[in-house]
Amino acid sequence: MTATTKHYRDMEERLIVNSIVDPVTGCWPWLGKQSGGYGKLNVWDKVKKCRITLWAHRVAYETFIGPIDEGMEVDHMCENTICINPNHLQQCTGLSNTMYYHHGRYIKREVNG
Ligand SMILES: [Zn+2]
Repeated sequence: MTATTKHYRDMEERLIVNSIVDPVTGCWPWLGKQSGGYGKLNVWDKVKKCRITLWAHRVAYETFIGPIDEGMEVDHMCENTICINPNHLQQCTGLSNTMYYHHGRYIKREVNG
């Protein structure tokens, strides 16, 4: 272990330490590395025996709620893509994704006008 590597007891602790709670929205903005507006983190893959990069919101979903089904994506109900609050996340299929890209950001598609 090096001085730059923090040791976390488990993934739950790592997620909490690397995020804050927004008192207004209830979001947990990720404080770690980001890519394309999404939080990401490096983890050791025991099977592949190498470091892999995972999306923080997907890790939060699997850590606090449960496994993500095959082929499913994790959608932000709060539209805050940096948020990892499991209560703001839901599984959705890529095909029925309710988000669409509009003026540089993903926004919810209004179903009933
Ligand atoms: Zn949120």
